[in-house]
Amino acid sequence: MQICEPGDRALVVGAGFAGAVHARVLAEAGLDVTVIERRPHVAGNAYDGPDDRGVRVHWYGPHLFHTNNAKVVRWLERFGSFVPYEHRVSARVDDRLISFPVNRRTLEEMYDVSLPTDAAVSSLLDRLSIAHPSPRNAGEYLESRLGREITDLFFRPYTKKMWGMELEELDAAVVKRIPIRLDGDDRYFPNDRFQLLPAQGYTQIIARMLDHERINVTLGAAFAPGQEDAYDCAFLSCPIDEYFGFRFGELPYRSIRFHHQAWAGTAPPTSVVNYTDDGPLTRETYWHLLPGHDAAGSATKTRTTEEPCDYKDNGMERYYPVRDAKGEFAARYRRYAALAEHRPSVRFIGRCGTYTYLDMHQVINQSLMSAHQALGAGYQSDAA
Ligand code: UDP
Repeated sequence: MQICEPGDRALVVGAGFAGAVHARVLAEAGLDVTVIERRPHVAGNAYDGPDDRGVRVHWYGPHLFHTNNAKVVRWLERFGSFVPYEHRVSARVDDRLISFPVNRRTLEEMYDVSLPTDAAVSSLLDRLSIAHPSPRNAGEYLESRLGREITDLFFRPYTKKMWGMELEELDAAVVKRIPIRLDGDDRYFPNDRFQLLPAQGYTQIIARMLDHERINVTLGAAFAPGQEDAYDCAFLSCPIDEYFGFRFGELPYRSIRFHHQAWAGTAPPTSVVNYTDDGPLTRETYWHLLPGHDAAGSATKTRTTEEPCDYKDNGMERYYPVRDAKGEFAARYRRYAALAEHRPSVRFIGRCGTYTYLDMHQVINQSLMSAHQALGAGYQSDAA
């Protein structure tokens, strides 16, 4: 439904991808756009920049851009250049690093067998898998694809520390993000045609998106519900439950504590190593292994480890909406979304506005569609 037109004044809350894409499309259509951002920087959780060693760090954890959506890539390339980067990950099992996500090499390394063909891999997985004809949760889904041993090794402890919940308490969609390959393709995003990193970082891309004569950005500015009434239309990436005073209860989120450390030594074969143990940490990132992130001439590198926590621990940021197996949180979100329907000139956007575990390319695609729709303009999306 069209909610605004050229000449209108729009409020955008949040200067991450969702807010910045909306702001840019609306400004180019002739609206005057005010962006307010609570944090002291743009780019939301994609915020990156050099640390005191000159190494580029993603301050809210590794953001690896991947998509099949050529239209999103073309749109992003208006704001900076991108370099190819195919992400790979290893899983630390005791003192070994094993290929992850599960592919032919993972199984060969785990079971010390040779699996020369896809058919050999498939028949091994058939023997390992446990029948769950319609998996009701992440645990049943993984067991039905990979069997119990692989589920318990690579997914059970990691998921427990990541979400504070058991695999059986989580929706299968949480782990369906992770590919399973019969061949030896060990890339983290094997199904995506475009795998890229911004040559000068995400912050620069988003800063350029917001750099428009009709966009006015204020950082360090908290949003209070009702503020949007002074505008013709509003696009809010703030948490929808908070906006409505938590009247149906809170929507839970996980957050992450990042531990950035100086590091020197022999780097692992992949930029990210996932921990399979039941300690507090989920993974570590070696930033210098990402193209363009290393500081020239510095022997000391930066390594970041991640320690998941509840977002309410000491005012942490909301990162991950939680999808429980029973769908209770999704149902709670739908009640908030139904309230939002009564506010036709307001749209809730992004991970926190829509309470959805979205990747960057999905946020950008949805935001391009949503902003065009708000203008009553057509937008034909590519496959997401
Ligand atoms: N996961 C796991 N072990 C791993 C990697 C992922 O159990 O080594 C599970 C975990 O529940 C995680 C989910 O798969 O939250 C999605 O993983 P992904 O790497 O996509 O998470 P993100 O990069 O979004 O944090």
